[in-house]
Amino acid sequence: MVIVLLGPPGAGKGTQCKRIVEKYKLVHLSSGDILRGHRANGTELGKKAAEFMDAGKLVPDQLIIEMMAGAIESAGGNCVLDGFPRTVVQAAELDKELSRKGQKIDAVVNLVIDDGVIENRLTGRRSCPACGAVYHIDTLKSKVEGVCDKCGGKLVQRTDDKPEVVKQRLATYHQQTAAVVGYYADNGRKILDIDAEKSVDEVTSLVIDKLDSLAAV
Ligand code: ADP
Ligand code: AMP
Repeated sequence: MVIVLLGPPGAGKGTQCKRIVEKYKLVHLSSGDILRGHRANGTELGKKAAEFMDAGKLVPDQLIIEMMAGAIESAGGNCVLDGFPRTVVQAAELDKELSRKGQKIDAVVNLVIDDGVIENRLTGRRSCPACGAVYHIDTLKSKVEGVCDKCGGKLVQRTDDKPEVVKQRLATYHQQTAAVVGYYADNGRKILDIDAEKSVDEVTSLVIDKLDSLAAV
């Protein structure tokens, strides 16, 4: 099963994915997390991606498509895709890649949220580089400030969550990524729109209800 989770940066894709994968026994594939892993390990891909990521721009399609095709293969084709596809070219290549394997996308979930809400979510986000857990300084605090509840790691602010880069990432979303929703609609896919401004638990319930109703059809 392949679920695509769309939405602007800060919509809550990573937060919701962690919950969805538990329920449906899928692998969470976040293109951003995979790229940060490459950077931390100093790979060639990580080095190539760094300048784009730090500027709030998209990493070139070909690098991302190869990386994600490998990740989907390793996940045995059972995954939730978070942050990919981010361009219409990536979406079309994903369809081709899946059809070569006799698979297709089972659900497209779209987290809908206003830019004004996103800015606070991103600048207040704190992440654990060790285990990938995500917090927020106001709405999802760790028990001890600056320390991950799950693994005791030190929480950090992602460099691309600084206000200047957040503005560019939002612009990039509107210029290049928002069109992916239209791509799926044009290709006859049902888009499951979710109000992502609600609380984390409410959004999870909405997503699960929609996915379950799809399975019932
Ligand atoms: P994305 O993966 O889409 O970039 P995240 O899941 O990392 O977004 O969430 C961005 C920030 O917003 C994090 O700090 C997270 O704790 C917080 N957050 C996520 N969902 C909600 C929500 N429904 N309400 C309030 N804060 C949220
Ligand atoms: P994220 O963790 O999803 O917010 O992604 C962080 C950064 O990684 C983005 O701002 C991009 O620079 C890069 N990135 C992640 N996914 C993709 C993708 N599918 N296509 C291009 N760049 C990506």
